[in-house]
Amino acid sequence: MSKKWVYLFEEVAEAEKYAGNWEGVRSLLGGKGSGLADMTRAGVPVPPGFTVSTEACNEFRKTNSFPAGQWDQMLAALKEVEKQTGKKFGDPSNPLLVSCRSGAKFSMPGMMNTILNIGLNDQVVEGMIKLTNNPRFVWDSYRRLIEMFGTTVFNVDDEVFEHPMAEYKAHKGYKLDTEMTADDWKALVGTFKEAYKKHIGSDFPQDVFKQMELATKAVFESWMGKRAIDYRRATNISDDLGTAVNIQTMVFGNMGEDSGTGVAFTRNPSTGEKKMMGDYLLNAQGEDVVAGIRNADPIEKLVNNMPEVYNQFMDITSKLEKHYKDMQDVEFTIERGKLFMLQTRSGKRTAKSAVKIAVDMANEGLISKEEAVLRVSPDNVDALLHPQFDDKAKKEAEKAGKFLAKGVNASPGAAVGQAYFDADTAERMSKEEKQDTIMVRPFTKPDDVHGMIASKGVLTSEGGATSHAAVVARQFGIPCVVGASAIKIDLEKRVMDVDGKTVKEGEWISVDGTTGQVFIGKIAATAPTLEEQTELLTLLTWADEITARPDIRTLPDGRKAPGVQVWANADYPKDAQRARSYGAQGIGLCRTEHMFFEPERLPIVQKMILAETSEERTKQLNLLLPSQRKDFDGLFEAMNGQPVIIRLIDPPLHEFMPDEEALLEEVITMRVKGETTGLAAKEGLLASIKSLHESNPMMGLRGVRLSIAMPEIVEMQVRAIFEAAADCALRGIVVKPEVMIPLTGTVKELEWIQPRLVRIAATVLAEKKVAKLDYKFGTMIEIPRAAVTAGEIAKLAEFFSFGTNDLTQMTFGYSRDDAERNFLVTYVEQGILAVNPFQSLDREGVGKLMQWAVNEGRKTRPDLEVGICGEHGGDPSSIEWCHLIGNNYVSCSPFRVPVARLAASHMAMKYNGATIKEDK
Ligand code: PEP
Ligand code: MG
Repeated sequence: MSKKWVYLFEEVAEAEKYAGNWEGVRSLLGGKGSGLADMTRAGVPVPPGFTVSTEACNEFRKTNSFPAGQWDQMLAALKEVEKQTGKKFGDPSNPLLVSCRSGAKFSMPGMMNTILNIGLNDQVVEGMIKLTNNPRFVWDSYRRLIEMFGTTVFNVDDEVFEHPMAEYKAHKGYKLDTEMTADDWKALVGTFKEAYKKHIGSDFPQDVFKQMELATKAVFESWMGKRAIDYRRATNISDDLGTAVNIQTMVFGNMGEDSGTGVAFTRNPSTGEKKMMGDYLLNAQGEDVVAGIRNADPIEKLVNNMPEVYNQFMDITSKLEKHYKDMQDVEFTIERGKLFMLQTRSGKRTAKSAVKIAVDMANEGLISKEEAVLRVSPDNVDALLHPQFDDKAKKEAEKAGKFLAKGVNASPGAAVGQAYFDADTAERMSKEEKQDTIMVRPFTKPDDVHGMIASKGVLTSEGGATSHAAVVARQFGIPCVVGASAIKIDLEKRVMDVDGKTVKEGEWISVDGTTGQVFIGKIAATAPTLEEQTELLTLLTWADEITARPDIRTLPDGRKAPGVQVWANADYPKDAQRARSYGAQGIGLCRTEHMFFEPERLPIVQKMILAETSEERTKQLNLLLPSQRKDFDGLFEAMNGQPVIIRLIDPPLHEFMPDEEALLEEVITMRVKGETTGLAAKEGLLASIKSLHESNPMMGLRGVRLSIAMPEIVEMQVRAIFEAAADCALRGIVVKPEVMIPLTGTVKELEWIQPRLVRIAATVLAEKKVAKLDYKFGTMIEIPRAAVTAGEIAKLAEFFSFGTNDLTQMTFGYSRDDAERNFLVTYVEQGILAVNPFQSLDREGVGKLMQWAVNEGRKTRPDLEVGICGEHGGDPSSIEWCHLIGNNYVSCSPFRVPVARLAASHMAMKYNGATIKEDK
């Protein structure tokens, strides 16, 4: 007996026995064939058919003919199909028509051949017309078969058929195929047959068995067609797999009022509600539903037309959901009162629906909580937390020429508002005029923050993903596009313009922080909040439970550890509260300098900077101390029981001073006008600012260097931190302050500054009579040298936090403020960089430094706490890296916390139990 090459759909058990397991069945019968067999086994009425195995294809490729026994097995299987359908192949009175489709193990969409309506010939056409009473449809099907045969079996050019058809339509004055009548299609069948003969050299085969044979060979041959080979090369699919061929009964929904066709989702794909949603049409073909030529009826109405079919349909779809454990998108046809499922697959869905379906299915016991968490992507969560533009509205705006420019998508969400070109006006229009505003600037500075916070969105023409505007916008959850360099902003004329399109101050614009697009005018958007989204909250709780399992990671010394926690970057108590309500487990970065920009504090800060003696500086700092203490008190209270990392002052001092150019202009104007009152003071100020000027301020007197140059500032800060911590502790709040020293490059810097600060902490605690307080002193790792010498640095630092904004800037030597605008976008477009390294960690360079630092640091201090607080902390791919190298936590803006929680749990599952990577 010859080998079994052909399997009926119901012979799945045999296939499984032969192939060993389901993976083997997929290799043997291909994706489509095994799917059809699987559906048949699940009790789903699939149009009967059979699959010719991939093994037969591989034999065919060797000899260019069917292996012994294949054809006979096909004929036998066809007989079985005839029995099941009660139809006969080639019989005009009750014809069986079949499709012949390729189906490799891995889907190769559109790469191989499909031939429909096999079994039609001149006689069968007449029979079909009688049966369907629809000559137009039958002639159309016949001409399609001839065309498909010519182009796919004999590889003649599409033009051979397209050209006469176009000519025919032109001759008749038709624009659309829908205008073609039955007679028109019939006439075209004649024309197609002539074209077929002319190009192929023989008549279109009237022998239906010949049709099946040639079609099967053509599918086998298409496996080695150029299209398929190119596709496999690009997707790394092996040539040896071969394709299977599926021969399946064609069913028709246009055989009268007891026939029909439709599409449905087993749950609502936009809301997730557990309710079937779909449409159907009686006496119609699938295409009619898709094309919307006739108005389809909602699926519930089918119960009135065909109650039995309806009940069967509901029963089958519920079985399908249980079988595939997911919401299904199904296509079905009813042929003379008999229901057939043509296709079922996991349905596409919105983010909202994805979350609801996952949580509901876990609650229904259909899937595990882990599976539910895995089914939702970080992007889904992102989409749910920020207002989003309606896709259709955006497309319409584009069509209407409202697209203005594209920049870097710095902070996600949709913002619609009136454009204002400075922070004060934006704030005033928002607060006093109650307008929705968008602040538009070339770039932003710390003293623009009030305008940003008051606005719905922020747009800059310069800067990149870690520019000031981007960092602040993300921190406050404000949609933001930066570096939209096509936009020319004229601050004098109060207009911006792109290639002749002009937006005046006060005009409406729409900013899409998710995609980086900017539009003129208003676009419709929707805005959900986390608190309202109970399913998402549930899902995130499950995600946290997974991440927190104590054996998610194995440390190099064999000890077990949980996955990465998610902390938040928050500067003010209200941000800390939000962070906590979004599920943060600590504060990973409080940038204290932001507190210096408050309007009533800035003048004191400036006086402090300009002080000529240490006494004068201390005097001004003492004025700042109470407000700093209050800030920290609020943070500790909000984070009761959780760690709070407070970073000591970091930026260069000139950032706190008035703008040099503007002041120079003022001084010159006063001199020209001969005004003397106040001139000397302004000149003095200008001279001081000039003296603070540095060519490369980001590499200059900032961070720990500034603290060594002017220790009074950080001494005040540490006092404020510990006074607040002690006060809170005395009020019964559990405080865990962690003092972070920025921009360390050598351990010597820490040796110089840290003991002084530790002494202050101890003094304050003694003064306040607080005997025990859980605190740490640590540093940021944001200079490559710090990463390289991490073993030394960990002798003093009790924790590390990777400042990957600066670490990326300094490792690549790319300015974080200018690179995107100048060349980074091109680098990504040209493939020089795979992604923007300021958005997603560069594992080979920056990531390697981090990995080295973690390992070296823990050699010195095995329990060293390690985190990340750069903008990468909220990026899923960067979170993966942090998980792999053994970070304890990632810290990101409060608004990113839910996304990061989900991403962290995905990593926990992906690498469950794996050992942390060690750099060898
Ligand atoms: C960093 O450099 O990654 C960081 C968090 O500090 P900043 O962005 O404030 O420089
Ligand atoms: Mg930094």
